[in-house]
Amino acid sequence: MSAPAFEIERFGSQAVVIKDGIEVWGPGPIAQAENKLDTLERQARRKRRQCMTCSDQFMSEGAHHRMCAKCRSGASAIFDGAV
Ligand SMILES: [Zn+2]
Repeated sequence: MSAPAFEIERFGSQAVVIKDGIEVWGPGPIAQAENKLDTLERQARRKRRQCMTCSDQFMSEGAHHRMCAKCRSGASAIFDGAV
């Protein structure tokens, strides 16, 4: 039960985002509340990882995210600049 529990509570065309019984966003349009819920859940899943390229610690957004921002931008710069 360590997973963060975000919920949406609707009031007609408005909604609020609730976590552990506390309102964390809203009220606002339901579509926006759903987006916010996604964002919050994604952020809650983030954790510190070690970069697979330079071994620096960075905040990972998930299992697919294994390189720090510096290495990712470096990697794309090399790729884009390749001639
Ligand atoms: Zn790195």
